[in-house]
Amino acid sequence: MVLDAPGRPLRPAELPDPEPGPGQVRVRVHACGVCRTDLHIIDGEVRGSRLPIVLGHQIVGTVEAAGEDAGHATGARVGIPWLGWTCGVCRYCRSGRENLCPRARFTGLDIDGGYAERTVADGRFCFGLPEGFADLEAAPLLCAGLIGFRTLRLAGDAERLGIYGFGAAGHIICQVALAEGRRVFAFTRAGDEATQAFARELGAEWAGDALGPAPEELDAALIFAPAGELVPAALAAVAPGGTVVCGGIHMSDIPSFPYELLWHERVLRSVANLTRRDAEEFLDLAPRVPVRTRVTTYGLADAGRALEDLRAGRLEGAAVLVL
Ligand SMILES: [Zn+2]
Ligand SMILES: [Zn+2]
Repeated sequence: MVLDAPGRPLRPAELPDPEPGPGQVRVRVHACGVCRTDLHIIDGEVRGSRLPIVLGHQIVGTVEAAGEDAGHATGARVGIPWLGWTCGVCRYCRSGRENLCPRARFTGLDIDGGYAERTVADGRFCFGLPEGFADLEAAPLLCAGLIGFRTLRLAGDAERLGIYGFGAAGHIICQVALAEGRRVFAFTRAGDEATQAFARELGAEWAGDALGPAPEELDAALIFAPAGELVPAALAAVAPGGTVVCGGIHMSDIPSFPYELLWHERVLRSVANLTRRDAEEFLDLAPRVPVRTRVTTYGLADAGRALEDLRAGRLEGAAVLVL
């Protein structure tokens, strides 16, 4: 499924099988998660280095062919995340912050991704996946899980945790946070009772309207929904010294707000991408929680419908293409 340009529907296409070069693997795709970022790319809010492009950056499949020194054997099950390549020599790469590498290339943005039967990836950026997760259950771990985990880590050891936007990332990170002994409060679109019930079912002690009052002060808030008006709402909900972390790649403009909301040492920050270390840590942690992903599955040809269901909030948990 090919994106020719922003604003255009995905187009089914028959492409030649990609050949892996040195250090690369060709993967037969079994499942690929659908991410909010894919909508931002389609809407032209996130732009990569080339078009047309095959979207999809939460890929689970098996290695079908491997170039020299690819690091993964034929037949191995691997996961391919958003971070597809980094330069390895810039100041960010050399200081453990490859997520900020200015030359980084991203799967499904700069490199053809997993809305396809086959894809090629740099073996250094592919990961073995924990057993006990079926392919379709593992796919959402690769972005919603990984970047959600980085978002949680940047919130520090907050006990009372607000999760704004309870979708693919929210429902995974809720489970991690509860396993760490935190208290979780879920903030959804107004009146979204299905998602609020889903959050309570997963163990959130409260679920309600994101723009309404919080039931008590929070120590941190994670924002996974791409709505800028949530930033002042979350700042108003966190206690002095609390942190608000924006976990998405794009957000609508943040409305102006009084300095009082930030004062008292509240912290507002974003999260960008992931490092390979985040992936190793989270993929080690997920089976120990254990994280149970809720997925709604679609065929590859229905990728466009999956994206529109995600946009409209018509599903709980994560959308996954199954091949
Ligand atoms: Zn770099
Ligand atoms: Zn993503």
